[in-house]
Amino acid sequence: MAEKRDYYEVLGVGKNAAKDEIKKAYRKLAREYHPDVSKLERKVAEEKFKELSEAYEVLVDDEKKKLYDAYGHAGVQSTFRGGGFDWSDFTHFSDIEDLFSGLSGFGFSDSIFSQFFGGSSRRARAGPAQGASLRYDLEITLEEAYRGAEKKVNLPHAVPCEECKGTGSADGKLENCDTCGGSGQVRRSQSRGFAQYVTISACPKCRGTGTKNTNPCKTCKGSGQTQKTSKIEITIPKGADSGMRLRVRGAGEAGPRGGPPGDLFVILHLAPHKYFVRDGNDLLIEIPITISQAVLGDEVKIPTMDGNAMLTIPPSTQSGTIFRLRGRGMPDPRGYGNGDILARVVISVPKRLTKEQKSLLKQLDESLGDYAEKPRPPEVMR
Ligand SMILES: [Zn+2]
Ligand SMILES: [Zn+2]
Repeated sequence: MAEKRDYYEVLGVGKNAAKDEIKKAYRKLAREYHPDVSKLERKVAEEKFKELSEAYEVLVDDEKKKLYDAYGHAGVQSTFRGGGFDWSDFTHFSDIEDLFSGLSGFGFSDSIFSQFFGGSSRRARAGPAQGASLRYDLEITLEEAYRGAEKKVNLPHAVPCEECKGTGSADGKLENCDTCGGSGQVRRSQSRGFAQYVTISACPKCRGTGTKNTNPCKTCKGSGQTQKTSKIEITIPKGADSGMRLRVRGAGEAGPRGGPPGDLFVILHLAPHKYFVRDGNDLLIEIPITISQAVLGDEVKIPTMDGNAMLTIPPSTQSGTIFRLRGRGMPDPRGYGNGDILARVVISVPKRLTKEQKSLLKQLDESLGDYAEKPRPPEVMR
């Protein structure tokens, strides 16, 4: 899927642009891209406008701009899930690499570092554990893969309990865990030779939540979550193929007791097509032709993913000949243009002929006589 573009690039302003300049750039581009007035194709305009609005929303806000400048898109992602920014939002990133890619090149202090990763151990986090990620197998048609598509799927998953807001506590009051004192972590130090090692891991008593639940919520029995079927929108990119894995962040299971949700991984499967067999970005199709079309040549109409195309059969075409229609195959998912259609013509021999037709064919055969290319069976080797 496409990388998110740099917000400054989207607005076409420099990193030191003043707020006035940002506002001006936004108004100018908004007039150009607003789907109701844009000269672009509506879908393209909508995408552009969405991207523009998102970039503006961040750069015009001092607080968000600061986060964006320091951490890139990772720093402001929570903004687009609704709700204000919170340090704990950083635990939404189940891939630490994602966060690093946002941090690279910027100096960040150790104190922030330890908030993310709970000290020396990268994977151990403060706060409740993250929910499980889910897998969903989705079948798509070749047409959907060709054009790209928006699909809605019904996903049963655990969501935060509405009654207790995911805390698991009936009165919303949670006491600090006795074992870890509320930090959710336990430290163990160990001496090896001259060196001392400190390991930090999630507290086993409260499973990293840091809390003790003395009055569990009745709806969720203290777990903080309930089962729900959600409609999840999935964007199928152009050129999608079987085995492609799409990630929908935060659409997995809710974390226990208010923990961040896991992700949803959608595995795509391409349904068989009536005419085409996909081979990478190429599409193979078999075109039946008659004996006379093969001998005399013809123009035949063949289907493509985008309307019909004319295929020229030159005179004296052998059965099994493959013709290539350049650029009429599947779009490359990375944007390297389209593959080809490979049309293999196969001579279809008539099965039921009348007496008269048979006699005409016999006449033709006699007339051809021993023509030069007349096929002869291979000789039997002794
Ligand atoms: Zn604890
Ligand atoms: Zn509850």
